[in-house]
Amino acid sequence: MNLPISLEFFPPKTPEGVAKLRMVRQSLYELKPEFCSVTYGAGGSTQEGTFSTVSDILGEGVDAAAHFSCVGATRDKVREELAELKSRGVKRLVALRGDLPSGYGAGGEFVYASDLVAFIRAETGAHFRIEVACYPEIHPQARSAETDLQAYAAKIRAGADSAITQYFYNADAYFRFVEEGDRLGLHVPVVPGIMPITNSSQLMRFSDACGAEIPRWIRLRLQGFGDDGDAIKAFGLDVVTALCEQLRAGGAPGLHFYTMNQAGPTAEICQRLRG
Ligand code: FAD
Repeated sequence: MNLPISLEFFPPKTPEGVAKLRMVRQSLYELKPEFCSVTYGAGGSTQEGTFSTVSDILGEGVDAAAHFSCVGATRDKVREELAELKSRGVKRLVALRGDLPSGYGAGGEFVYASDLVAFIRAETGAHFRIEVACYPEIHPQARSAETDLQAYAAKIRAGADSAITQYFYNADAYFRFVEEGDRLGLHVPVVPGIMPITNSSQLMRFSDACGAEIPRWIRLRLQGFGDDGDAIKAFGLDVVTALCEQLRAGGAPGLHFYTMNQAGPTAEICQRLRG
């Protein structure tokens, strides 16, 4: 596969999880990722886990990006965390607004991710390469498709270097989104986020929450497999590999895999793409 790839992990909560993720990473490093990114729990819940996992990855000789969400945060806190990341040798961030867990009031000093991007640039200049999130199928809280596109434009104009998309299974939504960005003069790489399909009910739950659409034919086929995990996995590999092929053929600049801390599905898709 000649497309650059990046891999996303979430910070494990237990020592066993840390050990397992280390093995998962070692096996996925064979794919020669450009970088690995580590998610960041809103409300700071997994901040130490994010920082330490990012440090582990850098220590393994692989470039690493820390996801960084600003919802509920103060400027002083963000300044402190940026200094901590710099001292750990981190040079890449995925800058996000994030979502507060239910029950938390906002009360922070940042409203949108574009505020965070502008703040990072003002505080740290060109130190960090900054990625932002974007939504070819429209962010679920967006007032309209147009305000969401403008929100994406604001993040790029505030100084982001590139974008990673929410996952999707409809390549046309991605190509249209890239065209609309070009029309606004936003000539930055927009890397599709790829979610392997391994578990039907989990995928439905996630997708409802984050606004990703599961096309009817995929949903119905998945439902038809019932509890047959092997059939779901085999179907998922076919569908997602075909999507990646379509994205590659259409000029996507790379692929960002939401690995869900599992090596198998991402490795298999990449092997098929190389085959
Ligand atoms: P924003 O860009 O701020 O957008 C949020 C909403 O506000 C959108 O509806 C947008 O249309 C609207 N908006 C923005 N600016 C304006 C404006 N000026 N006027 C009006 N409306 C506006 N979540 C985590 O908690 N941790 C993670 O590690 C994490 N990683 C992610 C990685 C990727 C690649 C993606 C795609 C998502 C990730 N998320 C993560 C989820 C993300 O935090 C949520 O989708 C969140 O709801 C929005 O974050 P954002 O940075 O896109 O916000």
